[in-house]
Amino acid sequence: MPFLIREEFKHAVADGGRALVARGLTVGTWGNLSIRDPATGLVYIKPSGMPYETIEPEDIVVLDAAGRVVSGTRKPSVEFHLHLSILNARPDLAAVLHTHPLYSSVFGVLGEEIPAISEDFAQLIGEKAPCSVYALPGTEELARNVVAALGAGKAVLLPNHGAVCVGKNIDEAMNVAAVLEKTAHIYLLARSIGTPRVIDPRDIALMQEFMRNDYGQRG
Ligand SMILES: [Zn+2]
Repeated sequence: MPFLIREEFKHAVADGGRALVARGLTVGTWGNLSIRDPATGLVYIKPSGMPYETIEPEDIVVLDAAGRVVSGTRKPSVEFHLHLSILNARPDLAAVLHTHPLYSSVFGVLGEEIPAISEDFAQLIGEKAPCSVYALPGTEELARNVVAALGAGKAVLLPNHGAVCVGKNIDEAMNVAAVLEKTAHIYLLARSIGTPRVIDPRDIALMQEFMRNDYGQRG
């Protein structure tokens, strides 16, 4: 049976890559992103080693859950193990962003987590963005380490490397990446002049409950 390939997902990956660069969340050809079509389970991923500005929808590679290329002529991102391992472990997700952001990376270099010090972080990401165990880029070991650190969470720091942010869709993953980076910036500034106050876990739980049930416009 031929695979159902949907052009809108190729466009979403190409556009999402440009957004990562425009938001300063990665540079050059580094970082990568994938989106899973919930209807087919196929994963649309950035091609390896291409600058985001030059990537067109036809350059996007489509993989099945086992990593076989089912559409596309390019090589997939070197971090395809990372993307597939996360998506296979988390049926609730449809988008994975691997970024090389400035301020979030500071804490990965230190091997530290980023705690919930701002309300948007608490609401969207939760108690913390943990730091995973170091492994070389592109390896299955890196994928395993990130899956273990991520658990049921939304964001993980990669030592001496960058970050991984996830979402139920590409918009949520982009928001996670932006809020993680903004919070890392605040945390760095706050620690440089004092001792940051971390939000109480009970308040984080209440804020997350509110976001799930009461936030936004009613139809
Ligand atoms: Zn990377």
